[in-house]
Amino acid sequence: MTRADCVELDRQDPLAGFRSRFALPEGVIYLDGNSLGPPPVAAAAAVGRVISAEWGDGLIRSWNGAGWIEAPARVGDKIAGLIGAGPGEVVVADSTSVNLFKLAAAALSARPGRPVILSDEENFPSDLYIAEGAARMLGAELRLRPRRRLLEGLGPEVGLVLLTQVDFRSGELLDMPGLTAAARAAGALSLWDLSHSAGAMPVHLRAAGVDLAVGCGYKFLNGGPGAPAYLYVAAHLQSELSSPIQGWFSHRDPFAFAGSYQAVAGVERFLAGTPAILSLAALESAVDLWLEADLEAVRSKSVALGELLIGLVESKPELGLTLSSPREAGRRGSQVSFTHPKAYGVIQALIERGVIGDFRPPHHLRFGITPLYTSFCDVHDAVETLAGVIGAGAHLDPRWEARARVT
Ligand SMILES: *Cc1c(COP(=O)(O)O)cnc(C)c1O
Repeated sequence: MTRADCVELDRQDPLAGFRSRFALPEGVIYLDGNSLGPPPVAAAAAVGRVISAEWGDGLIRSWNGAGWIEAPARVGDKIAGLIGAGPGEVVVADSTSVNLFKLAAAALSARPGRPVILSDEENFPSDLYIAEGAARMLGAELRLRPRRRLLEGLGPEVGLVLLTQVDFRSGELLDMPGLTAAARAAGALSLWDLSHSAGAMPVHLRAAGVDLAVGCGYKFLNGGPGAPAYLYVAAHLQSELSSPIQGWFSHRDPFAFAGSYQAVAGVERFLAGTPAILSLAALESAVDLWLEADLEAVRSKSVALGELLIGLVESKPELGLTLSSPREAGRRGSQVSFTHPKAYGVIQALIERGVIGDFRPPHHLRFGITPLYTSFCDVHDAVETLAGVIGAGAHLDPRWEARARVT
């Protein structure tokens, strides 16, 4: 595919208009929106308005007057529209890690005769750390199996199956409907982490019969660094589950300051403390933008960009890159990963030349595909830069021997 072909594809792209809605620096090709999405142009004004008008002028009156108290549920309902959930099934709160802990502990407590969390050993390590900690606290156990043989670990003692829909290293897209159905048939609850899928493709939680889910606000959703995360509890389970962090925001009537705890009905029982209103404003402006996008079109373009990237890289075997993502587009999320023995150096040299991807150990180059602001020409030019880096040996620079704290 030539650059002229890419220019033509960009001309026909129904999503091309979204590019100007993001505040991206000139001269940068950003292939890391799966790690930290760039700011929507609207975010700065939204946060500025909250600071000056709501916080500044409204002061504490804004909890009621500016809808702060409803923000976690309001933004949750908007996110529900992106992940195939219904109103009242999603709430914005805390971080993905904390939400995962709350839901995993709630699920184990609700299935007392089934003290095992089953997950795959390639799952996002932090999710496994949290599951291990939650299990230990509740006298339960985390059981890991190789992904291909996960279901062999599914017995009558398993209370929860914990999985991530898109693998952070390879971009592999797991079979959510099939694995959820298998968990249910075995009597276990399912908990899916959508951090690398929501905003990159349509997600159908209800249709897949998913019980519980969590996801991240700052990756594909563009909510800003450390944006609040969200959690989903299927409506039919909400009265049965209770949060292990029963803070006042999960109370039926927090401002009664009652001496005893009574959980509120609904998904808000998984709130804990005061929501981060400034961060919620940035996240909400991003989610509003997402609600304008057709996620089927996002997925089609994501597949096309991924195929282009793979095709261009593989047309240059001299680069020495090996595809580590599934080749079949239907089994890939919205990223493409390759391995290279000097992957860290390649990524650093690329970043120095304005093409931003990231590195994941041991040898992965990871490129996020974000159709709202990445063009076909961007992908073409990124591969040209990559060829330039490796051709010139820029990845072998001794400066890349030591890794930065964040890779
Ligand atoms: C990014 C990510 C997280 C992040 O959790 P934080 O609490 O925001 O640090 C968790 N799980 C998965 C699968 C992720 O990709």
